[in-house]
Amino acid sequence: MTVIQKINASAHPLISVEFFPPKTAAAQENFNQGAAELTGLKPDFVSVTCGAGGSATGPTLDISKKLRSLGYETVMPHCTCVGISRDTLTGSVDELIAQGFNSVMALRGDPPRGEKFFKPSKDGFRYASELVAFLRGRYPQLCIGVAGYPEKHPEAYNKAEDIRHLKEKVDAGADFITTQLFLHNHVYFEFVDRCRSAGIHVPVLPGLLPVISLEQINRMRTFCEFHVPEILLKNLEAARNDPLKMERIGLYWAIEQISELIEGGTPGVHLYLLNRAKTAFYPELFACLSRVRGQ
Ligand code: FAD
Repeated sequence: MTVIQKINASAHPLISVEFFPPKTAAAQENFNQGAAELTGLKPDFVSVTCGAGGSATGPTLDISKKLRSLGYETVMPHCTCVGISRDTLTGSVDELIAQGFNSVMALRGDPPRGEKFFKPSKDGFRYASELVAFLRGRYPQLCIGVAGYPEKHPEAYNKAEDIRHLKEKVDAGADFITTQLFLHNHVYFEFVDRCRSAGIHVPVLPGLLPVISLEQINRMRTFCEFHVPEILLKNLEAARNDPLKMERIGLYWAIEQISELIEGGTPGVHLYLLNRAKTAFYPELFACLSRVRGQ
């Protein structure tokens, strides 16, 4: 089944997990362990990010295949437009489809490290909407996900403009939206309201990071923009010298977020677990995720 078929057919809210291809031997070890253990969470689907110039082949495809061999039934590779021509991208998505993948996350991607602005490659795509339109035309059956930004994409002038561009991606053929992480649920609910008012009616999966430390928040904020609630920050800072307490504070925040999101009628939760299984198996969080799945 594709991701959108799962979202539409599921009797319970979905749980999905994002993985990223490891770059070092230690990260590979961490991935191997995390990916094997997370099969126990039984996510409805998993996704695999790709780096600059990544398209759908290379490490993203290798890791997607590895996840499938571990038993994950629906695996969604990401593909970006960074440093890649239309022809190369076409070749890589052809390969992905030949390998049996039926869903992709279509992204523009970030400018390469050290560059401030995104420059399309020669004969490449400028915006994710162009990539979506191309994919939809060439592969009518493919399920296509796109990114949404509850707190606005950093390059967008304002939220209204960002929503207009998000609608272009959906009008071009995207089936669903996964959001950037957020730590205030109201920003997600307001974002969904803005989508609906703008005529965007596809499912909007909330992306959630169960926070485990202050350092992790600071690292994430170097490449994505999100507000940290004052009370969460204050509590984490007070526990700065007690890693286990910090972890507990972050995970309880995630449990509250998930419970409220599900009560608010979200189609599921997409977890940014950073290739680690430990977080998901924290007993209270695991119990919360089991309740989401109606177990
Ligand atoms: P777009 O939708 O093209 O938007 C980029 C910017 O351009 C926005 O500010 C938008 O408002 C503006 N814009 C769009 N269309 C127009 C137009 N016609 N005219 C003027 N402005 C326009 N990055 C990776 O490198 N690899 C990954 O695997 C990856 N996975 C991600 C998964 C999720 C769920 C999310 C939320 C982000 C992910 N990213 C990933 C990050 C993403 O690539 C960056 O945020 C990137 O800067 C924007 O990508 P996009 O697809 O949202 O771009």
